[in-house]
Amino acid sequence: MARRQANPLIREFALIRSLENRFARRVPGLIQGIGDDSAVIETSARAWWHFTTDLLAEGIHFDLKSATLESVGYRAVMANLSDIAAMGAVPRYLLISLAIPKTFKRSHIDELYTGLMKACRPHDVALIGGDTSASKAGLFLSITLVGTTNRRRALFRHGAKVGDHIYVSGTLGDSLAGLKLLMSDITSHPLGRRKTKFSRSHRRFLVRRHTHPTARVAEGRWLNDRRLASAAIDLSDGLSGDLRHLCEESRVGAEVELDKIPISPACRTYARAIGVSPIQLALTGGEDYELLFTVSPRNCDTLERQARTRGYRMTRIGTIRPQRFRIQMTSDGRTQPLPVTSYEHFR
Ligand code: ADP
Ligand code: MG
Repeated sequence: MARRQANPLIREFALIRSLENRFARRVPGLIQGIGDDSAVIETSARAWWHFTTDLLAEGIHFDLKSATLESVGYRAVMANLSDIAAMGAVPRYLLISLAIPKTFKRSHIDELYTGLMKACRPHDVALIGGDTSASKAGLFLSITLVGTTNRRRALFRHGAKVGDHIYVSGTLGDSLAGLKLLMSDITSHPLGRRKTKFSRSHRRFLVRRHTHPTARVAEGRWLNDRRLASAAIDLSDGLSGDLRHLCEESRVGAEVELDKIPISPACRTYARAIGVSPIQLALTGGEDYELLFTVSPRNCDTLERQARTRGYRMTRIGTIRPQRFRIQMTSDGRTQPLPVTSYEHFR
């Protein structure tokens, strides 16, 4: 998960790559180490186990002035469920580690666990352990989630081929719009002056998409079980960053058709109200927890037909190109490089 500091993405990617180069080793049973949404271990002749972990730090990933502890817990589990979803795996076991500030009461922890468990329940994920410590610098919350798939049956970031179509689930940019709305309640945001133009239901929708996002677990399993996708990643850092990971791991380039990116009416209206492009929100907004995946042209019809039957929103937004093409975006007949940007929450 990206840290929200000045230009954090590139630095974080470079650090992880260097740690991988220096310290990662091939060991028996390891199918996938550093570099995907989960690590994958072959545990038997039939099963692969998937491991993912995320750390949330107060003041970096959330601000208790604008977020409830319930939503912090809920989002922490969703971030991990989303990584497991991107592998096409079934989420199973959860470990929770906490560093708790002295100011916290028992009721604060109860509220946090209400959110954590609410996110686990629909997926029947079992809490099996964790660790607890005091903190001198705000709340820290680390979640580890374990999932399973059949052996040789998972979605990886590598696997995209030139000519594959690029799809996303759901709509993009909502979570960032929701966060900005929450922040505008505690700071003097330009939207304050224009609030009347923005309906309550739009506001509720966007805030909810931020505080209670939905990891696409069923969708990931479907893509994997039916062998519909050639590669997948979840959108936690924003389309422009996460597409880059998928392309790097698959050693390909990509062309994104900006006009195709699915944006909700609420997000579009919000963007208009604050005078920014909705595309900007969609490209840079992290924490949508939608799936970004690639599909061979021969599977596109089946994918779209089955998605319609199941009520999944899946939108084709571009095409995988050779690596030398790099990652470009097209709009109104113009092609230009897709910028690497991230929205910085707490500037
Ligand atoms: P995601 O956004 O899907 O959670 P990240 O960008 O956090 O993925 O991490 C990318 C890859 O780098 C993952 O394989 C993750 O396990 C690995 N990784 C991240 N931080 C570290 C670290 N400090 N040491 C080793 N591996 C790391
Ligand atoms: Mg991920």
